[in-house]
Amino acid sequence: MSRDKDQVTKRMPASWASKTLRLPKSLLPHRASDANLPGYLQAVTHDLYTWQREHGKGRFILHDGPPYANGDLHIGHALNKILKDITCRYQVSNGRQVDFRPGFDCHGLPIELKALQKQKELGNMPDGQALSTVEIRKIARESASNTVKLQKERFKEWAIMADWQNTWCTMDKDYEIRQLETFKLMIGNGQIYRRLKPVYWSPSTKTALAEAELEYNSDHRSTAAYVKFPLHEIPKVVRDMLPANQGLIAAAIWTTTPWTLPANRAIAVKRNMEYLVAQTEFHGVLVVSSSRLADFESFCPVLSILGKISGQELVGATYLHPFRSTTNGPQPIVHADFVTDESGTGLVHVAPGHGMDDYKLCQEHGIELLAPVDDAGLFTAEAFPGSDILTGKDVLGAGNKLILNIFQSANMLLHTHTYRHKYPYDWRSKKPVIIRATRQWFADLSGIKDTALEALANVKFVPSGSFDRLSSFIKSRSEWCISRQRVWGVPIPALYDQSGEAIMTTQSISHIISMIKERGIDAWWSDDPTEPAWVDPSLRMQGPFTRGKDTMDVWFDSGTSWNEMRSERGEDAGPIADIYLEGTDQHRGWFQSSLLTKVAQLTSMGHRAAQAPFKTLITHGFTLDSKGKKMSKSEGNVVSPAQIMDGTLLPPLKRKDQKNGQDKRVLYDGMGPDALRLWVASSDLTHDALIGEPLLKAINGFLAKLRVTYKLLTGLLDTYDFAHKVQFNELCGLDRLAVLQSRKMREAADSAYQEYAYHRVVSAINTYVGADLSAFYIESIKDRCYVDADYSKSRTHAQAVLWEIYRNLSHVLSPITPLLVAEVRDYLPTQLQDYDPFRSLSEDRYTSIQGICEDPDLEAIFNPNKGASIHRIWDAIKQLQESARSEKLMGSSLGCDVTIHLPAISSFDSHGQLLLRILHQLSPELADLFVVSKVTLTSTDPNQPPLAPIIQASEWTKQTTILIPSTASTENSPIEINISAPKQLKCIRCWKYTVPKEIFASASQLASDSNSSSDSDTSVPASPLAKLDVNTTQLEEPVCRRCLGVLEGLRTAEPDVHGDLFNGRPGIAQAAAACRDGGGLDREDIKLWDWNWDFDGNKKTKRTDLSD
Ligand SMILES: [Zn+2]
Repeated sequence: MSRDKDQVTKRMPASWASKTLRLPKSLLPHRASDANLPGYLQAVTHDLYTWQREHGKGRFILHDGPPYANGDLHIGHALNKILKDITCRYQVSNGRQVDFRPGFDCHGLPIELKALQKQKELGNMPDGQALSTVEIRKIARESASNTVKLQKERFKEWAIMADWQNTWCTMDKDYEIRQLETFKLMIGNGQIYRRLKPVYWSPSTKTALAEAELEYNSDHRSTAAYVKFPLHEIPKVVRDMLPANQGLIAAAIWTTTPWTLPANRAIAVKRNMEYLVAQTEFHGVLVVSSSRLADFESFCPVLSILGKISGQELVGATYLHPFRSTTNGPQPIVHADFVTDESGTGLVHVAPGHGMDDYKLCQEHGIELLAPVDDAGLFTAEAFPGSDILTGKDVLGAGNKLILNIFQSANMLLHTHTYRHKYPYDWRSKKPVIIRATRQWFADLSGIKDTALEALANVKFVPSGSFDRLSSFIKSRSEWCISRQRVWGVPIPALYDQSGEAIMTTQSISHIISMIKERGIDAWWSDDPTEPAWVDPSLRMQGPFTRGKDTMDVWFDSGTSWNEMRSERGEDAGPIADIYLEGTDQHRGWFQSSLLTKVAQLTSMGHRAAQAPFKTLITHGFTLDSKGKKMSKSEGNVVSPAQIMDGTLLPPLKRKDQKNGQDKRVLYDGMGPDALRLWVASSDLTHDALIGEPLLKAINGFLAKLRVTYKLLTGLLDTYDFAHKVQFNELCGLDRLAVLQSRKMREAADSAYQEYAYHRVVSAINTYVGADLSAFYIESIKDRCYVDADYSKSRTHAQAVLWEIYRNLSHVLSPITPLLVAEVRDYLPTQLQDYDPFRSLSEDRYTSIQGICEDPDLEAIFNPNKGASIHRIWDAIKQLQESARSEKLMGSSLGCDVTIHLPAISSFDSHGQLLLRILHQLSPELADLFVVSKVTLTSTDPNQPPLAPIIQASEWTKQTTILIPSTASTENSPIEINISAPKQLKCIRCWKYTVPKEIFASASQLASDSNSSSDSDTSVPASPLAKLDVNTTQLEEPVCRRCLGVLEGLRTAEPDVHGDLFNGRPGIAQAAAACRDGGGLDREDIKLWDWNWDFDGNKKTKRTDLSD
């Protein structure tokens, strides 16, 4: 809005009088210094956390979703942890006692593999030399510990306020014990079982995987095949269709995983589907579904259709598997609902060892499963009984091809083709997984699913749509495979007898837990395999037991982290977190595992009420580059948190001192942790967060703007003390408006904080600081703050308002940019440092303005969104000034007078009338508001006396008209705005054109009278002005009455500093003294618009109101 910013500070020549201006002197540096950063970090993190633990009231728990302790932190971690931190800080600023203990997820395969890889690189593990389980665990533990240490340091660098003394790790002994106790409760409740069934299996990492550990590649290519199986027992209706000389018929099936053909145990058809018995050109008589014929014919020409049958008529037939016809005999054709005619042949190859649906179907029919594939994804000898041709072949590579060759040479392969489809991959190794039946431990979810869904009904979801997402995941799950075949984790505490039967009871687990407490968890692996000490005494008689080698799914580890929330009295089932806050990917990960384990625990403990471990669940999006693309190393668009903090994402700064090439250092616009935090806060958490050069530039710009604003505030508050309270209704209009605007901003920010919409907080602050505060209010008070006397009402009132603004701004900023807020506080005058924006439990004590009440009329006129707003007059004046400047008629905004000519009030609608009324009310303040020397309101309204003669002849004048909506006629009512050359002289101190020309004319006249009688004997001059010397340059310096008063005040109040202020300027000294004698010097009463000027008490009394 204003282009005249700092016009006083920047353009004022250093005259003797201008040196007495109260220009804001703030020592707040232009940039935060790196050297002070550690101190401020400590103050706003550790110190503040400790303080609020003691002083906060009403517990607030944000339970941390642990980051995986594998490698350095990335921008996604920053987004997540800073969002949590802002949430906690806002609670502290409202007096709550926050409980935030960071956690770390430390077990699992990636850490295990990374540890092994590192050992290999260091040459500690020559190829072929296997490390023992205990050695691997030791290396993995070290690796995780180091990463946790590193991650903690990073988090602290981002100013995360948390209980850093009491963090938790899933590999902590206590954590593991609590996890096993939860597991024991579930065992006691019959929720855990072991079963041979198909699971997702990763051959690349040799372990079972949960759904949450899969990534789907939609561009996976498989070799799909059509093959035929000869029918053995043929239904009579089909046999009757066959030609007399033809007794052979085969079922055509289609598969996208030919490697599962050795494990085929049945063929499924659908009862009510129609099938054809078709004579083909090259493959004899085949059975295929009617609706698939057209497709089928494209590679397998059909000569004639011999007949049609229903699926029902095929059920009960049998066929022969080429690999096992001698060992297993014929296999059945069965009905299955999942058969469709969307692809394939309508006859489905069923391999229960390699498919979830197949497994269920075969269970119903009592068909045993077969999964002749080992941990590494290689065929076992079982794949082809009697031949070792397949043994050891990779099912996803050579093995698959070999199968096709075998079927081809047996003339059973009808056709192959490349098939592109969505296929699950291991999210860690990025390699395809297979489905494979193994013996695994499962948690039964069928019994707790409904309770879990019930619990979600009581949870608040942000955004609300995430409720559907999480519930649909829960609904679609009936069991959870919790065992993994790795070593870096918490053991599944199972014992196996000699026949391989597993024993796991609450009693056996209690004993194992006590052993772990005693011997440490590594002893589970290092003790002799049949060490009886691990076996509960009541079982020892039943013979030797070995300990299981499976570990628990890491989602079970982190899922039970609600155990880490510290219980208070009356919380026998543990406390419930106020908030869980994670990325949206945790719907299928941690949110689920936390909910399911908590509900399982409560159910096992006999609690009837459904309860999630969280009251509010907040999800945020991912981080993307500025074009909305996913960050990846190969794209080269990865942005690190450090780049945002040190500014290296932006081009280096141009340095003035680099011209002569002496200093080669490159400087970047690094704004530190606050920049990173402001970026996080400004991203709408319900969407993905973008980051790139343009955005960071804007963030840094906003931070710089905040710093400049604070610098002004701290400078202007120099002499202020909040002990001096002011009544709201004593303030002038602009001050009242500024108080209300600042309060509105705080209210808007508060409500956005309460809805976790931090981007709306940033936007409220941004709009407020840019428009209301710096362009409007600060501009309008610069004159009185710089020029008026220290303790004058006008200055003190402005300071009281600035103090409110400072407190409101710091309150809303402290959760987002705590370092800036803490630093600014140190640069406040000492008398104000008692107030701490972070520990503001008793705001009342620090309130400067009392009795604040709404003023809707005033606010409406200053609302830029309303038609008749004062901004339109402001804009018109600025445009006129711009035009005058372009003709070199004026420079500073003060170098003009403004006349606003108003039409009759009756011609306006109610809002227009309001504008006129407020303009009249504010008329003494309008010059300050528009930053000009003088504003005159005139009117043609017959009911209103004219305020001043319409614009007089000036050196130059410019005029424009704005239209205000009107109801009196169809036309809008014009407001005429003139700016013209100032009619008074420019004060050398304040630069306002408010020095009446006639005063100096009279002074000169008096002086010249005095000179002409200088040779007379008169020793006492007739008037003080008689002594003035018209020939000295000082006399020619115009100083306005206000400045004279202030100067005289300074001279008498501070003789040590300003005693010689008027040396060599006798005229001004006398004028100033006259000003004092006339009563104009009352410090408490210096007010621009009501100051009576008594120029010369004896001879001339002239009352001039500066504003007219
Ligand atoms: Zn002045």
